[in-house]
Amino acid sequence: MMNVNILIREIRKMVKAYVPKNAYLKETHENRGNPFNVLISTILSQRTRDENTRKAVQKLFSVYKNVKEISEADEDIIQELIKPAGFYRIKARKIKEVSRILMEQYKGEVPSNLEQLLSLPSVGRKTANCVLVYGFSKAAIPVDTHVHRITNRIGIVHTKRPEQTESELMKIIDKRYWLEFNELFVRFGQRVCRPIKPRCDICSLKHECEWYKLIIKNGS
Ligand code: SF4
Repeated sequence: MMNVNILIREIRKMVKAYVPKNAYLKETHENRGNPFNVLISTILSQRTRDENTRKAVQKLFSVYKNVKEISEADEDIIQELIKPAGFYRIKARKIKEVSRILMEQYKGEVPSNLEQLLSLPSVGRKTANCVLVYGFSKAAIPVDTHVHRITNRIGIVHTKRPEQTESELMKIIDKRYWLEFNELFVRFGQRVCRPIKPRCDICSLKHECEWYKLIIKNGS
């Protein structure tokens, strides 16, 4: 298996070379340092495209500025604001519910502890880990579709579900890389190792990558 330290260094180089500095950032990344906004953005991003999340987050926070305001907001108005994100009825209910719990049990603050985050409604491991990394700068590995796809393609993990990917990555990735890991892979996944038509022609990992070797072997 490829040395993961080298892998990360190579991905860093490719991101620097092929991803423009002003390239599109996910809402979670843009709200860095604001745990509540990261939490709400990540819930809104579930099962939708990044650009839809962006519209919904911007509309929601243009009207409601903080956890208290959302906890007291009219659910119908939240629904209307977050419509672009899809599944807006259920998401509005969850957002309001999470905000209410934060007000009642955590004095309006987002907990910075994985177990407490996971106990909140609609918060799974990816969301909780995004809050830790982007909200609190705490070491964790949020596994989204990019991280899951790329690590399996390269072959540093062989997993079916993101939760398995996370637990495998935690064993093999040095903790000093955890904070940057998600953003690095998202950027790499948006421009080079794309979901469809990955840019293997420009990728410096191709001689190590299991997916590429399989394509070459199959002659396609
Ligand atoms: S060789 Fe292709 S599939 Fe493999 S990591 Fe690079 S871009 Fe992705």
